[in-house]
Amino acid sequence: MPDLVKEYNITSTFFDRYFEQNAVNRYMVDSLKFMWFKIGKFVNPTKKNEIIKIYIQEEIKDFYENNIIKIPQLEFNITTKCSLKCKDCCALIPDFNQQGHIDLSFQDFKNQLDKITEIASIRHLIILGGEPLLNKDLPEIINYAAKNSSIDLIRITTNGTIVPTRELLDVINQNPNRIYFYLSNYSNNSNLDKLLKYEEIKKVLHDNHIRFQMVDSWNWLEEKGMAETPFSEEITKIKMDKCYRTKCNQILNGKFGICSKALGANELRISNCKDIIDITKSINLREDLIKFFKQEIIDSCRYCIISDNTVQPALQL
Ligand code: SF4
Ligand code: SF4
Repeated sequence: MPDLVKEYNITSTFFDRYFEQNAVNRYMVDSLKFMWFKIGKFVNPTKKNEIIKIYIQEEIKDFYENNIIKIPQLEFNITTKCSLKCKDCCALIPDFNQQGHIDLSFQDFKNQLDKITEIASIRHLIILGGEPLLNKDLPEIINYAAKNSSIDLIRITTNGTIVPTRELLDVINQNPNRIYFYLSNYSNNSNLDKLLKYEEIKKVLHDNHIRFQMVDSWNWLEEKGMAETPFSEEITKIKMDKCYRTKCNQILNGKFGICSKALGANELRISNCKDIIDITKSINLREDLIKFFKQEIIDSCRYCIISDNTVQPALQL
């Protein structure tokens, strides 16, 4: 660990979830920006570890000496509507079909993003759902986010069932070097063959010079919901060390929390977790966010049941 960690007495939780994650996301964003848009300087992949160490030092100085807060990654859920009904959806999206959906208006998105970026910058903003292409305000949302200089890079995550509209493609092209697509890969689920439009979407993006990522398909973990009573601190720590989603950070319906499952469960009233921040009501959002990143045990994780059972991606209910 770098010397500044001792100097500022930084706990391992704060180091892992804030400083290291900022450095890792900065490395990823810098690499993509140089590779795709020729912005910034070459980030040598063979020196990744050394570069991240330098970035960590800079992040610590920015926080303690320059008073700057950066959110390493922020998922912005703009709709719980989805064109699929995945049995093991980690955002509990199919449960919203019974309760009623949250579909963010442009005005609400603007208010919430403004509130966050008044006090923090965002390294990597991920616009997702549900299926974000079902939100009719998506072009306006993307256009507004792209104009915000506190955001380094924007990703739209889609499940590959909907071809982007002309309006959305135009907005992306009017804001060059800011936005890319991520196609979730469900291609090893042959039951979805008729619904998935990967080739059509890739062609549209390619023809419009819009960058995208689609990684190899991987198995999912079974989604087992939330427990009625909390697990002990000891078990929760083990779960949090194991769970890759502790680095997600998401906003849903004006609330900030650790991941899509925590926020979905909160909205569905499956669990009432104490650490979720209502960004529209917070009196001191800056302090609330810092406290969140320093918090060793996240209340949502105390209730969360995680599983090791792998399942096929996107099995439909
Ligand atoms: S996993 Fe993705 S595609 Fe499937 S229901 Fe959830 S949000 Fe929709
Ligand atoms: S609530 Fe915590 S343990 Fe459960 S999925 Fe989210 S980050 Fe992981």
